Amino acid sequence: MKILTFILIIILSELAMSQYFDLEQKLYNDYEKFREKTLTHRRFNHSDILPLIEQLKNNKDFTVNKAGTSFEGRDLFLISIGQGEKKVFLWSQMHGDEPTATAAIFDIFNFLMDTSYSKIKKHILSKVKLYFLPMVNPDGAERFIRRNYFDIDINRDAVRLQSHESIILKNVFDSLKADFGFNLHDQDPRYSAGNSSKSAAISFLAPAFNYEKDVDPIRLKSILLIGSLTKMLNKFIPGHIAKYSDDFEPRAFGDNFQKWGTSTILVESGGWKDDPEKQFLRKMNFLLLVSAFNEIADGNYKNESPETYENIPFNGRYLFDLLLRNMNLNHNGTKIKIDLGINFVEYQSKENNKIFRRSVVQDLGDLSIFYGFEDIDFSGYDLETGKTFSDSMISIKGINYDVLYDFYSKGYTMLSTGDSIEGRFVDLPMNLSFGEFEDRENLPKLGQAADFVLKKDGIIKYVVINGHIQKVQKGREFKGNGLYYK
Ligand SMILES: [Zn+2]
Repeated sequence: MKILTFILIIILSELAMSQYFDLEQKLYNDYEKFREKTLTHRRFNHSDILPLIEQLKNNKDFTVNKAGTSFEGRDLFLISIGQGEKKVFLWSQMHGDEPTATAAIFDIFNFLMDTSYSKIKKHILSKVKLYFLPMVNPDGAERFIRRNYFDIDINRDAVRLQSHESIILKNVFDSLKADFGFNLHDQDPRYSAGNSSKSAAISFLAPAFNYEKDVDPIRLKSILLIGSLTKMLNKFIPGHIAKYSDDFEPRAFGDNFQKWGTSTILVESGGWKDDPEKQFLRKMNFLLLVSAFNEIADGNYKNESPETYENIPFNGRYLFDLLLRNMNLNHNGTKIKIDLGINFVEYQSKENNKIFRRSVVQDLGDLSIFYGFEDIDFSGYDLETGKTFSDSMISIKGINYDVLYDFYSKGYTMLSTGDSIEGRFVDLPMNLSFGEFEDRENLPKLGQAADFVLKKDGIIKYVVINGHIQKVQKGREFKGNGLYYK
C-alpha cells in the first residue's frame, strides 16, 4: 500500500510538472542571469563584441570560424554549436543601426554556456545545429547607420552581390543550406499592430519568394513556426505582435533564401514604451529564439494552423511618439481645434557623444484615429505661440531651473543671446538663437519643431520646448533639450 501511494505521488507530481513546466515563462523569469552585461545600450560596435567572441573560442562546445572581413577590415565570424541534423542559421544586423538581435545572440551564448537548463539544452542540441553570424554590417554599426561603408543597403544586394558583407552572407548561406533561417532586424518603433494603439514590438514575416506570394512546403514551415512563436509571445506582450509587409522584394536576402530552399523567418524588433534602448525587446528576442530552437527540435510547430499566421495584423502607421489632443489654437481672432502628432529624431553629438532629440510635427488636425506612446488630452487648453526673450548679455551657463521657470511662466520658448554654442542642440529645455533673431510667428507647422505654450483660463500651465512638455511649476526639474538656431 505504501509503495502504491508512493508511485501515485510520483505520477501525480510528474503530471503537475509537465502541466506547469512552461519553458518560456521560466526563461522569462531567469533572463537576467543570461543577459550579456557588457552590452547595455544600442550603440555598441564591433570592438565590443570581439572579446565576447574570443571567449567562445575557449569553449569546447562552440566552433568559431572567421567568415570574412568587411570593407574596412572588420572580421565576421560564424559561430556554431550542436550536433543535431537540422541546421538553423541566424544572422543579425545587416543594417548597422539595428542591433537588438545581436545583443540577444550574446545572451543566448551565455544561456548555452551556463550550467542550468542542461536537460532541455542537451535535447535541443542533439536535434539541432545552430549557426550564428552576428553583426553582418560592422562598418555600418561603427557609424550607427543602416547601410554599409559605400552606402549600399546590404539587404538590396542579395543578387548583385557587390558588397563584401553581402558576399560573406551569401557564401555562408550556400555552405550551410540550412533548414531554417532567422533574418534579424529592427524596424521603426512607431509601427502599430494593425490599426490598434499597441506598438508592433515584434513583427514577423515568412518572406514571399515570388510576386504571387505562393506558399510552398518551405515557406509553409516558416508560416507554421511563426504562428507558434506568436502564440508564445502573446503571453508576454499580448497584442504587440504584427506582420511585416509581405510584398516580394527580389533584391532582399530573406526573400531569396526562402526561394533557395531555407525556411526563412524575418524578425523585426519594433517599439516598446519607455524602452528607447530596446533592452526589453532584446529579452523578447532571446525568448522567441530559444523557443524557436525548441520548437524546431521537437517539430511541434507542425501542429500549428496556417491561420494563426494569417490572422496576425500587419504593421500599421497609427502611432506617434507624442500625441496632444483637442487643443484650441487661437490665432488672429480665429479659434480652431487641433491635435498634434509629434515624433522625435535622435542625434548623437560629435562633441561629447551625448544623445539629443529634435522634435518634428508629423501631422496635425483631426488625429482622432491615431495614438501616441505618450498620449495626452488637452481639452480646454489654448495653444499660443511662444515668445522670444532678447538680451545679448544673458549667458546659457547662468540658467538654472528657477530661471527657466521664470521664462516659462512669462511664455518664453526662445532666448536670443550673445552666447554662441557648438553644435545644433542646447543641453537644457530652452531654445536658443544667436544674436539678432526675429520674433517668429511660431505656430506649429508640419516638419518643424514643436514650440508653444498651453494656457488654461488665461494662465500658462505648460510650455512645449522642442516637443518636451514642461509643467510650469516652481521647483520642478525641467527635462529635455532645446534647439540652437543660428
Ligand atoms: Zn533592417
